[in-house]
Amino acid sequence: MLNNPVQSINSDTVLSVNPARGHETLGEVPLTSKADIKKAVEQSHIAQKSWNALGLEKRVEYLNDLNAHISKHKDEFVKRTSQEMGMPNGLSTSIMDDFLSDMQWNNDNAVKYLSNDIIFEDDNEINAIFYEPYGVMGVIAAWNYPFGNFVASCSQALLAGNTIVMKYSEEIPLFQKYLEEVIQSSNLPDNVVQFIYGDGYVGQTLIDQDIDFITFTGSSATGQKIYEKAAAKLIPVSLELGGSSPGIVFEDCPITDDLIETLFWERFLNSAQFCNGMKRLFVQRSVFDEVVEKLSTYAKTKKIGDPMDETVEFGPLVAERQVIKLEDQVKDALDKGATLHCGGKRPDGLQGAYYEPTILTNIIKDMKVWHEEVFGPALPILPFDSYEEAIELANETEYGLSAIIFTTDKNITQKALTDLQAGTVNQWPSHSYRPQNPFGGYKKSGIGRVNGITGFKEVTQAKAVSWIK
Ligand code: NAD
Repeated sequence: MLNNPVQSINSDTVLSVNPARGHETLGEVPLTSKADIKKAVEQSHIAQKSWNALGLEKRVEYLNDLNAHISKHKDEFVKRTSQEMGMPNGLSTSIMDDFLSDMQWNNDNAVKYLSNDIIFEDDNEINAIFYEPYGVMGVIAAWNYPFGNFVASCSQALLAGNTIVMKYSEEIPLFQKYLEEVIQSSNLPDNVVQFIYGDGYVGQTLIDQDIDFITFTGSSATGQKIYEKAAAKLIPVSLELGGSSPGIVFEDCPITDDLIETLFWERFLNSAQFCNGMKRLFVQRSVFDEVVEKLSTYAKTKKIGDPMDETVEFGPLVAERQVIKLEDQVKDALDKGATLHCGGKRPDGLQGAYYEPTILTNIIKDMKVWHEEVFGPALPILPFDSYEEAIELANETEYGLSAIIFTTDKNITQKALTDLQAGTVNQWPSHSYRPQNPFGGYKKSGIGRVNGITGFKEVTQAKAVSWIK
């Protein structure tokens, strides 16, 4: 077992450890050298010309084949996701299915949204828009939804005729290696998708190469560094960054078991490691105590343990370093007077990056749980007295990824859908994370959108053309 059990990068390998089993070593993958990163980008440029020349319909055929090929290997992807980053097996299975289906939606709709548009015609001439690829995309991704990161970052870009050099987070090298092997054993032409391995330094080295576009998924702090580098190169970016999404429970919403269960999973799914998770909850004062009490009672019923155990719904965090950061955020809140309703500690008897679901009230604004993104299982809950106060609190963040409201009132709903400053706003139980919809953030949650029609357009450059009849 490692003394400091974070993923280890040494001079030539990326080590993978299991956060659920005392950080035992799962394997290792060679670190990609600077020379090999350069070579990958050069090969990507060559591949891009022929990939683009194939035409849209042919690329759709290849991507359909790829989808079927990945589906055949689903079980191993699910296993590696659970072992390497701690996602409970049942969840990684359903998430894999969801993202395969999102990829299929992209394949099914690429011709509709990427074909040339005739936009003007008279007796003499025709004007059209061609949606052309940028070229080689450098893709840098997080670890929290391994297959989802591939689909959201790469699927539309490939259909549009771009090629990819991709680096996942150093937390999941074995998942990445398997994806590379599966893609290499598919029909996809060589070098259309290539992978490189390593940490932020390898990511920076990729950006320094001759790439045409950067797609980044990760923290806002890293996103800002990447944006600066992209500005110096004057290339476009898609930045999918952090969040501190609000949930608002209005007093008209019946406090049912269904509501409590939803509130729990909106925050604690995937051990609370998802960008658009509900990271701050506001509850109208008349129902505040009831919601806090019921949610805390429900949280205590959850079985925490090894994600490979089918009965476990709540696994470890991805790495020890995430637990250490969360412990600091919770301690800071308690030191400043927060009230702890459940959790607030590592569970007894488990070896790994585990932390109990934690609920805090009596929150003040200089607490880290208020003004930092909390990427682990802790939920601050605050009361509010009026609609205006709820919206003001919800928007009082540098992030703007998503927001969710719990009300049956049609007027409140329509007003909140407009007033909340976020890339997606949902009235429960409706939800908008669908392949048809754009996904991305306001403010420091990002630049650009993935998915849907908007996502297709983002990975292309619009060329206006005209010709005489
Ligand atoms: P991170 O920013 O630490 O790392 C993300 C990726 O960037 C990793 O591959 C890392 O190796 C690489 N990297 C780090 N420094 C770099 C640099 N200077 N140059 C180039 N690459 C560099 O983020 P993380 O901890 O892996 O992921 C969690 C964060 O990601 C959270 O903030 C979460 O909200 C966010 N996230 C956002 C979305 C979204 O769609 N908006 C989705 C998933 C995760």
